[in-house]
Amino acid sequence: MSTTIFAATMANDNKKFQAIISHCKEYGYIFPSSEIYDGLSAVYDYGEWGSELKKNIKDYWWKSMTQMHENIVGIDAAIFMHPTTWKASGHVDNFSDPMIDNKDSKKRYRVDHLIENFAEELEEKGESDRAKKLLEEMDRLLAASDYEGLKQLIEQNKIKCSVSGTAHWTDIRQFNLMFSTQLGSVTEEANEIYLRPETAQGIFVNFLNVQKTSRLKIPFGIAQVGKAFRNEIVARQFIFRMREFEQMEMQYFIRPGTQKEWYAFWKAERMKWHQSLGIGPEKFRFHDHVKLAHYADAACDIEYEFPIGFKEVEGIHSRTDFDLRNHQQYSKKKMQYFDSEINQNYIPYVIETSIGLDRTVLMVLSEAYREEDLSTADKQDSRVVLAIPPRLAPIKLAILPLVKKDGLPEIARQIMDQCKPWFRCFYEEKDTIGKRYRRMDAIGTPFCVTVDQQSKEDGTVTIRYRDSMQQDRIEISRIKEIVEKQIF
Ligand code: ATP
Repeated sequence: MSTTIFAATMANDNKKFQAIISHCKEYGYIFPSSEIYDGLSAVYDYGEWGSELKKNIKDYWWKSMTQMHENIVGIDAAIFMHPTTWKASGHVDNFSDPMIDNKDSKKRYRVDHLIENFAEELEEKGESDRAKKLLEEMDRLLAASDYEGLKQLIEQNKIKCSVSGTAHWTDIRQFNLMFSTQLGSVTEEANEIYLRPETAQGIFVNFLNVQKTSRLKIPFGIAQVGKAFRNEIVARQFIFRMREFEQMEMQYFIRPGTQKEWYAFWKAERMKWHQSLGIGPEKFRFHDHVKLAHYADAACDIEYEFPIGFKEVEGIHSRTDFDLRNHQQYSKKKMQYFDSEINQNYIPYVIETSIGLDRTVLMVLSEAYREEDLSTADKQDSRVVLAIPPRLAPIKLAILPLVKKDGLPEIARQIMDQCKPWFRCFYEEKDTIGKRYRRMDAIGTPFCVTVDQQSKEDGTVTIRYRDSMQQDRIEISRIKEIVEKQIF
């Protein structure tokens, strides 16, 4: 039997991306939001298995950040925050992207995306040097906030709108990405507040509280997972860019002057984490920022090679004392730390690690999705499998009685009762065993056990491994131990 993995050699990677989107919908991973009303642009809902995968990734990150680092604690701050927070953080004045509109199609583009897409087209046509020069020039102009220059760059390169096919562009303008709403009833004095565009500020405004109650000494970190909202103008690419998404962020408070070392430390540490998801180092790269955000003195992205190319999954930022200093100024509360080792008071510096949970889900799915040709000389066969690492897989074990009679369901039910308190199990007796295996492959279940006539006689079952499709005969009493070995 030949097992050819043709995902890697698929003619068109965009095809693979579309296949993943369809697969997610068909197998209960991700649905368009409010689909019965034709969906809501750039908003998605996680289904029964998508929500399990997302939770498993979140738990894995949480554990590796908090439990595995004795000097990092977690918090869960509210989405609504005092509006002055966003003035102090710089988001009211600076959280915007340069945009340009095509006058014919009225389609709005983020300037960097428009140019990057054009550079990708050049790459595909074999004009790598021109693409490289174009991107370097774009980085330089973005760093200088030279919008006239950027518009000229677009015009010189005759970059066209993909809808109208024309190059009639407006001037470049800045658009703030924060959503606002009113706090309190409209009859009372309404207060405009924002839906947080990042979770980080919930950590900064709690710095004094957490330092006091945890009694942690610098260096120490505060971690948080939660929703963030951005009115992304160019919202596309499935869950890669959404208007409502989840972030997993950690702010590491350090002594001023030590930021270079800690920045290097967290770069290495986070890269290790990504690779611990069973993804090879060749699928990642660092992208150092030329144009730094308003708060950073060094910043980079960890990029993963999605089917749509290398894209950011996580940002690592050296934020200096920008946030705490500004909160001190706006709140008039001292954001100081007394360092008894050097007998000094100071506002701590911060290294931030900020990873998108949804983008990590997409990364894990992109890595896991495979279409395999299992044809033999006399039979055509294939399967779609999600080779998700067992510790992240939504269902760990499927329990399948071969037939619905002869006492087999009763034995299968007993196995279910033994295992379900420990990990997520799934019981199914409908359809042929082959069809059930295929369904579990498509959902990404790493282990299936089949109960058959022999199980009644000698207390054994067949265990089938998702990736190799190998089948072994094992004692029922060993099932729990075998599965647990793979998922912790
Ligand atoms: P991008 O350049 O792609 O817009 P960013 O640099 O603005 O991202 P950060 O502000 O550094 O992103 O946010 C940290 C992480 O949050 C990102 O690495 C990404 O994984 C995630 N993230 C940011 N915006 C979105 C979004 N609109 N949808 C999904 N995830 C997002």
